[in-house]
This record gives sequence, C-alpha cells and structure tokens, in this order.
Amino acid sequence: MEAGEKLKPNFRLSKITRREFLKMTLGVAAGVLTNEKIAQAGSLINKPNQKEAPQLPLEQEYSPPSIIDGLETFGADEPLNEEQLKLLTEKLNSLGNEKRDDTYYGTVFVTEETYKRFIFDDFQESFQSYLRRHEALFNQMLIENPIALAEGGFKLRRLIVINNNVPESDFFRDYYNNRITDCDDQYLIKNYQPSKADYYDPSIRIDLGLLHEWGHYFLHLNDFYSLDFFSPVNIPPPLREIPLWQKYYGSYRDGIDNDGGVSRKDLADNTLMAGGGGRILGLYNSLQLANRGKAGRVHNLRETLKDIWLWPADLPEQVVLRFYNVYGLPLIVRNITVYETEADLANPNTRVWHSGPVYNFPGEIIRPVDIFPVENGAIKKGSEIIFLDIDTDRGKYFRWMDIRDFNIAKWMGKEFLQMCAARYDDYPGNFNSRIDYR
Ligand SMILES: [Zn+2]
Repeated sequence: MEAGEKLKPNFRLSKITRREFLKMTLGVAAGVLTNEKIAQAGSLINKPNQKEAPQLPLEQEYSPPSIIDGLETFGADEPLNEEQLKLLTEKLNSLGNEKRDDTYYGTVFVTEETYKRFIFDDFQESFQSYLRRHEALFNQMLIENPIALAEGGFKLRRLIVINNNVPESDFFRDYYNNRITDCDDQYLIKNYQPSKADYYDPSIRIDLGLLHEWGHYFLHLNDFYSLDFFSPVNIPPPLREIPLWQKYYGSYRDGIDNDGGVSRKDLADNTLMAGGGGRILGLYNSLQLANRGKAGRVHNLRETLKDIWLWPADLPEQVVLRFYNVYGLPLIVRNITVYETEADLANPNTRVWHSGPVYNFPGEIIRPVDIFPVENGAIKKGSEIIFLDIDTDRGKYFRWMDIRDFNIAKWMGKEFLQMCAARYDDYPGNFNSRIDYR
C-alpha cells in the first residue's frame, strides 16, 4: 500500500504490527496486561470486523501525513512503531527530495508521550507551531549571519511522532543507517517541556537551548565551551607566575569574567554554540558554514560530522602576529614561544599542557601548520589551545589563542593578525581578546 493511501478507520487490527500482536498474545498468556488491555486485545483478536477482515501485511502500514500548522506530520493520530518508521524512511528516501547547496534540512522526531502532553501544555499552542517558530529563528540566524553565505537558511522538513518503544539506538545513534537522507540530520525530542528547559526564554517563548542542540544536529557545529581550559596541573613556566591568567575559556557565559582567567567574549558572546542562550551565529560559525558552502560540503555527512566534536584543520601556513599593549602602544616582537595543550591520555575529554616540544619563533611570524597536529582531517582532539610567551621591546608580554583564531585567518584569507597582549599585572577580566584581521 502506498503511504498516501488512507486506511479505512475500521481497519483497526491493521495498525497492529505482527510484533505487537505477538507481544499482546504473549502478554495475555504471561498475565502481564491490565484487564482493560486484555479486554481490548480480546475484542481485537476475537471479534475483528467480519466484513473487513485485516489483510496482512497491512500491519506495517502507517497513516498518511497531515499538515498541522504548516508542518508535515507523520503519526499525529497513531504514532509510528519501529517497523512503520523503517518503512517510512525507505519511502521518503525513494522520493529523492532535492537538497539545495545553500540550505540545511532537518527532521524532528517526538515521542508520543511528549507530543500528547505538549498539546495540553499552558501555551495552547500546537507542537508544530512551537517547532515552526523555532525553525524561523534558526533560519534567521543563518540568513542574517555576518557572511550571509547560507542564503537558503534552514528548512524543517517534517515532524514524526513515534511510539515510546522505537529503539533510540537504531534510529538516532547510527549516522549512516536508517537515516532519512533528504535531511542533514534528525533530532529526537523526548521527556520535554519547554518551561523546564534550561535556556527557555519566556519573553520570546523560545527554547534557546533547543536551538543550540539543533546547531549540533542540523548544522554539525562544535561547542565553544569544549575549548574551555582550566587545568591546574603541569602548568608551563610563564603561567606559573600569573595565577589569575591560568584559566582560559573559549566560550562566554555571564559571570565567567569574575572567575579569573580570560574568556573569549569577543568570539562567543550571545552566539548559538557558546554554551546555551545565544541568539546569533557569530563570526566563527558563519565563516565555517560559508567555507563548507564554498567547498561543496554542506550535505557531506562524513565531512561535516567531524565538526560536531573536532575543529577544522583549515590553517594558514604562516601568519604575522602584531601586538599592542592595553594602552594601545605597539610592541616590537623579538621572539614568540608557544605552549600548547594536548588531550590527557587518562581522560581524553580533558586537556593538559603538552609534555613534549614548545615551539619557538624568532620574530613576529608563526607557522600554525607546524603547531596544530592534524589527525584524520581535523585538529587532534585536545591540541587546540595555545599560550604565547612574547618577548618584546617593552619586555615580556603574553596572550592566549585557540584554533578558531587561525581558522578565521584561513577562511578570510588574511595573513596579519593584530591584537592586544597582556602584562602580568593586567587583569584578565578586563582584557579584550578581539583580533583584527588584515
Ligand atoms: Zn552543546
């Protein structure tokens, strides 16, 4: 039967899969069903409509979609089970829907339990309308980004309501099988209530945390806060003398500047991938997506999936670093010593200082390609943050940088990076990390 062909409402048994039927009869035998369910099962098993006896294999069929508040929805009345979801996926994949090179696409799945409860939530708004408002803001972030190269923005293709027994492992953990291929990814919503979400903003009735997750799933972007570094061990010599500067936050969140250490407010403030609550895409991710677009990799899953966990190996061969101090006075560089982090072998999700070589560059030119190790086409995990010990005509200065600063140089085709360097007695909370690219 074609997906578009509507089942007659009295074909009730046709909506029960073989597996469910088996489970039901076994359940009756094992005495695990409630009386009500036994009665229901009994009526289905013993008294099927005599005129319209079910014809197997109708059990696999799913109901055709409905358009609810502008969003194509499968399973609104009868949530899909595992087999129906497989069938739907095959069907959708056989359609070969077009994917534009400048547009990201998504499918949202929702569990029956969350979907049904949401309808009765305080908002009096359908789940579809709620999603479409999020789609609109997400789309706006893309098309209004500083680089404006994801002109097609984002399109939410559909919503699929699934029953609570669909195994997550099959449909949401495996990126290459059981996937709906007209989308860049699929996102599952379960156990969800907006009012309980961490970054729900009641003033705009938008869950900014949900959009952050979509940044991972639909755009395949990494967390900025994965570049936070505050390891107290194995501190290299110049940092030992300046306790306030020993922490580095690649992200930005309110209050971070009071924690000591330097934060990358310049890159991360109010951005989608900073860590939650941001409303703009920001320079870095805009350039990243634009670069994917230029390279024709927007829908290349094997390439873009790396970007969820790792940082792109797009590096300039060499760059010229020009520094001024907090008073704006230019510094003449004599030598730059670079200390680098690496993954802690005992715990790959945390960083320690590189136990091996430090990198020394006489003068103002450094070679990022020599500093950042590349593994499987991305920067080796853990090795993305550097601390510069800078010898200048005005004495010792220093500064933190990370991989994004050099990705940006590569993507913008710039070679001169002009920025502030700090003295040991400058306060990190007042330090502006912003870089001018020339
Ligand atoms: Zn995240």
